[in-house]
Amino acid sequence: MQKVIIIGGGIAGLIAAHVLADYCREILIIERDVLPAGPATRPGTPQAYHPHHLTPRGRMILQQLFPGLNNELLQNGAASSLGKEIWFSYPSGDLHIPEPANEAACSRSFLEWHIRSRVLKKETIQLLPATTVNDLLIDKTHNNVYGVTATRGNETIRLHADMVVVATGFHSHLSEWLHRQGYTIPEPEILTTLLGYSTRHYAFPASRSVPWSLLHAENPERPEVPTCVASFMENNVLEIILGNIGGQYPPTDSDGFEKVLQLLNIPALQEVLQQVTPLEAPRGYRIKDVTFRHYEKMASWPDGLLAIGDAFCTFDPIHGTGMTIAAMQADLLQTMLQQRSSLDASFGRDFLQAAARIVEPAWWMNAVADYGQPEVQHKYATPQKGLAFAHVFMEQAMQFAVQLREPALFGLVWLVKTSFLSPRELINRPMFQMLQEAGMAGPLEALIQAGKATDVAQWQDDICPDIPDYEDTLFIPRQVLQGS
Ligand SMILES: Cc1cc2nc3c(=O)[nH]c(=O)nc-3n(C[C@H](O)[C@H](O)[C@H](O)COP(=O)(O)OP(=O)(O)OC[C@H]3O[C@@H](n4cnc5c(N)ncnc54)[C@H](O)[C@@H]3O)c2cc1C
Repeated sequence: MQKVIIIGGGIAGLIAAHVLADYCREILIIERDVLPAGPATRPGTPQAYHPHHLTPRGRMILQQLFPGLNNELLQNGAASSLGKEIWFSYPSGDLHIPEPANEAACSRSFLEWHIRSRVLKKETIQLLPATTVNDLLIDKTHNNVYGVTATRGNETIRLHADMVVVATGFHSHLSEWLHRQGYTIPEPEILTTLLGYSTRHYAFPASRSVPWSLLHAENPERPEVPTCVASFMENNVLEIILGNIGGQYPPTDSDGFEKVLQLLNIPALQEVLQQVTPLEAPRGYRIKDVTFRHYEKMASWPDGLLAIGDAFCTFDPIHGTGMTIAAMQADLLQTMLQQRSSLDASFGRDFLQAAARIVEPAWWMNAVADYGQPEVQHKYATPQKGLAFAHVFMEQAMQFAVQLREPALFGLVWLVKTSFLSPRELINRPMFQMLQEAGMAGPLEALIQAGKATDVAQWQDDICPDIPDYEDTLFIPRQVLQGS
């Protein structure tokens, strides 16, 4: 392959460029922002002010793609998890989970800047900043993309390429571009989350330390109370987020924000709040819907075109999914490039179909986690399977782990929630029986009695048939975990 254009220099665009660099003569990343010289927020990614946590799977792939990245982040000031614990606080009790390794925690801008610095060191990769792509160049006769048109200052430019990767994020215009050129766009799948975030940053004295790296407090019985997550990022900055779905937006003014923190009354947080200085007023972020754009279902998809990251599917940020999916898609791209001797005409389409299979379990899991609030609605021709049962199953398993003070069970729920392990590793007969013996299966039995879930007696091979049947290859085998 001679030349690839990547539209968007965010996380997905950068890691796609990194992977493609081994297979292409020339890569051009076109980015509408003027990119900052250091780790700073920028207009094109307003979400970067808010916490960006990596799931274990996302962390694992980034470390494989960029060996030594974790150490580099730590050396340059990222917070370290060494010897710390993650503290979960629920009305039913608290659970402290030891951090497994020395992992770096940092802002999205800090992570992106480190990745960008590495990517732009590659000779074949060039960056064209301050340039906004506004259309694709498509040869309709041969149904292939051969470049883009873009605006740079007052100038309109045309840039040619053999392949174009769209990594334009949450507000991607890819559907409009394709529609304008006569393509029929499939119905998008929508999850209306009505999510509200409010984030505040504080300076924490370098001389002090706390035993936790991340503190997560939520009250599933009172959905109107925001979830609160406090964590450390680079340069001793504590970031606290109040987040909620279902249209119950947390306050974004300083007084309102601090008042909620007091009302939450979490002793470990109260203690740390006495030692910090707010750096600025809180900032809010709202998302009405998240969208799975289903380009893989298009009857006609132009050759030489790929969509990756949020441009393909967006997720409820509260579950920390987006960067992991972008990393999994880049990993898929690398595998496909290794397997094919040449990039034939069907490459883009095959990639989308495989990328959609990666998205599906994570998308389902977002819907499972957000299920239960009347305002949260899934809108698509085909309803999603087993949301109510899976939601209640995960909640009961989580509460059981908290009551038992059982980090291993809690970890299992967490790894299933973050697409590391298959849902079948959790939602199965032995686990159901365990909940029954603990007297915690009542809400699940109620769903079965109401005809909303299949009776356990009818589960084949210990597996609940209400849960979608995802391929095992989409997950990390449990043995890998046991061996580590
Ligand atoms: C509030 C919030 C919190 C989040 N928290 C987490 C988290 O904790 N963990 C997690 O994994 N994910 C999180 N995410 C999701 C995460 O931000 C994205 O999924 C991830 O960064 C992948 O993004 P991307 O590269 O596809 O898009 P982005 O990072 O948004 O990058 C898109 C890039 O394209 C550029 N661009 C757009 N249009 C054009 C154009 N026409 N021409 C040129 N350039 C263009 C933009 O300027 C931008 O640089 C969160 C998202 C939000 C909104």
